[in-house]
Amino acid sequence: MDLAIPLINKLLMQTNIDILRKNKLSVTQGRLVILDIFLQTDGALAHADIEKSISNDFDRVTVYRTLQTFFENGIIHQIPTTDNTVLYALCKDRCEAGNHHDEHVHFICTLCDKTICLDEVTVPQVKLPKGFKPLQKAMVVKGVCAECKN
Ligand SMILES: [Zn+2]
Ligand SMILES: [Zn+2]
Ligand SMILES: [Zn+2]
Repeated sequence: MDLAIPLINKLLMQTNIDILRKNKLSVTQGRLVILDIFLQTDGALAHADIEKSISNDFDRVTVYRTLQTFFENGIIHQIPTTDNTVLYALCKDRCEAGNHHDEHVHFICTLCDKTICLDEVTVPQVKLPKGFKPLQKAMVVKGVCAECKN
C-alpha cells in the first residue's frame, strides 16, 4: 500500500495526517492506514471490518489499541449494537479528547446492512425518574436507507 499521498475524503476534506496532527498524535503506519479506512467509508465499521481491510500488515492488538486511541482522542465514536459488537464511526469536529458530542441517531439499513450516522438528527431528550443519572444516550433506527430505497 502506498501511503506517500494521503487520500482526501470528499466530505471532510481532511487527510489522515491532518487528523493525527490536529490531535497531537504521533504519526504511525497503523494509525494512518486505519484512519484511511474510516475516511473512505460512509458507514460505521466493526473491528472485524478493519482487520479484513488491512490484510496481515497489523495484528489484532495494534488494531484494538489504535481504535482505543482514536476513541479516547475524540476521532471516532462507538455505536452500540444489539448483538454486542461495537461499531465505530468518525466523529465530527466538535469532539475532543475525553469529550464526545455524538448524540445523533444511528440508522441501520436492513437491506445493505450499513450503519449510518445521522449527524443532523439528535437523540431526543429523555425525562428520567428522580434519582436516575444518565451517562450515555444512544438511539438506533432500523429501516431502509435512501440508497437502497431507489
Ligand atoms: Zn465523538
Ligand atoms: Zn441500504
Ligand atoms: Zn455516529
